[in-house]
Amino acid sequence: MSELRRFYIRTYGCQMNAHDSEKVANLLYHEGWVAARDSDGADLLVINTCSIRDKAEHQLYSDLGLLRKWKAARPGRVLGVAGCVAQQAGDAIQRRFGHVDFVFGTHNLRLVPSMLAAALKGNPSLEVGESASLERFDLPERHPDYRGASPGRGYLTVMEGCDMFCSFCVVPGTRGREISRPADGIIAEAQSHAARGVRELTLLGQTVNAYGRHDRRRGQAGTVSFGALLRRLAEIPGIERLRYTSPHPLFFDDDLVAAHADLDVLCPHVHLPLQSGSNPILERMRRRYSVDDYRAKVAALRAARPDLVLTTDLIVGFPGETDEDFQGTLDLVAELGFVDAYSFKYSPRPGTTAASMSGAVPGDVAQARLEELQELQRGLTLAAHRRRVGASTEVLVTGHSRHGGSQLSGRDPYHRVVNFSAASGAVEPGELISVRIVEATPHSLIAEVADTETAGRMRRSLKSESGMADDEGRSTRFQAGAVRRPSGASPHGD
Ligand code: SF4
Repeated sequence: MSELRRFYIRTYGCQMNAHDSEKVANLLYHEGWVAARDSDGADLLVINTCSIRDKAEHQLYSDLGLLRKWKAARPGRVLGVAGCVAQQAGDAIQRRFGHVDFVFGTHNLRLVPSMLAAALKGNPSLEVGESASLERFDLPERHPDYRGASPGRGYLTVMEGCDMFCSFCVVPGTRGREISRPADGIIAEAQSHAARGVRELTLLGQTVNAYGRHDRRRGQAGTVSFGALLRRLAEIPGIERLRYTSPHPLFFDDDLVAAHADLDVLCPHVHLPLQSGSNPILERMRRRYSVDDYRAKVAALRAARPDLVLTTDLIVGFPGETDEDFQGTLDLVAELGFVDAYSFKYSPRPGTTAASMSGAVPGDVAQARLEELQELQRGLTLAAHRRRVGASTEVLVTGHSRHGGSQLSGRDPYHRVVNFSAASGAVEPGELISVRIVEATPHSLIAEVADTETAGRMRRSLKSESGMADDEGRSTRFQAGAVRRPSGASPHGD
């Protein structure tokens, strides 16, 4: 019997990239390959790259330099590069790093088997062409031996690309124009996820809630509104949690807001990128909403689902950002009480409008702003976590906690990390269990297992008229309203 060929995929960047890696892994299983534990045990290594920040791109070039040794250590090894840097840099990667066998872009995942076959015969290849066709969604069903990284959880691409062209962002260049999958294909894939035990389904797209908008404008059949899509998915037996990422504030229409009020399975968490709390900066960023527009979306969502948890993305040090603009961001963050935020210093990306804007913010100023913003957010996160101590919640178990030992970890409906201890073998990854929160930390909640049998009951009570209720009927809803800055200096704080 011939020895199994093993692959390893190293993924950088966003959830979309992580899911692309899953799709490539599944394709490789269909080709008779199996997953290796790490790159040392692999015959094929694929680096799935991210270009959203220059740091990630530099990381790739440093990795590729080091991988000359990896490749030389065993004859027949194959090295592939995928993702957004591959899409942008194309043949420049192979010109600079001759040991790279194949390079493929974000529209070309399904070509991996043929590129790999060519590489095994010693022929390098490059596929970074953009495709405007739905063909790119034509991928095989999950291979029975491919288990994926997270039991019980599944990801499903509903649309790709972005036509928003925010001035700082490379995504329209790396992921191409917006294209939405027909609803029937999405439903079929969701049903197949449910049939193999997926309980939490996350819908993916660069601007996921823009789903189907161009088709509707053109009068083209196949897609539906994003709210209608959620309603159809919510009916699939076995799907107990629905999430989506990342939405754009502009596309929260009445239909989508109403879905948050109506659908039990739609999780009470929305990651709603804000980027800045200053109107002049939002305009320079080309975000197409004002601070008041954003506030109105938040108010509508909270009216529909009062326990909704909001998280966000923020950029500091964007060209032209003054102290006053930055103060606007601090004030809005405090006013809206985000439960978490990904915040970054602006870094110019090649080919974007912002890269040639005047008004660069000095590095030390941007760094100081980032630290101030992150300190504010740490306080908000910890305060939100503390308000939940004593409450019950339901956790979808993902595996061992990052802190090691016997602690397990999972996510609750609000997408918070919950760590807890359980007897060995009592709880498996992929299970939904009921826990009681006993401690809050800045990054997670610590809980005690209530009992595994009440999970179903808990689930049914998730959406009661008064929000979530614990076993004793106390409200466990996340208090997501205004939270003051630690300094108490917010002019918008009540
Ligand atoms: S909406 Fe803006 S930030 Fe988001 S992917 Fe599109 S261009 Fe980038």
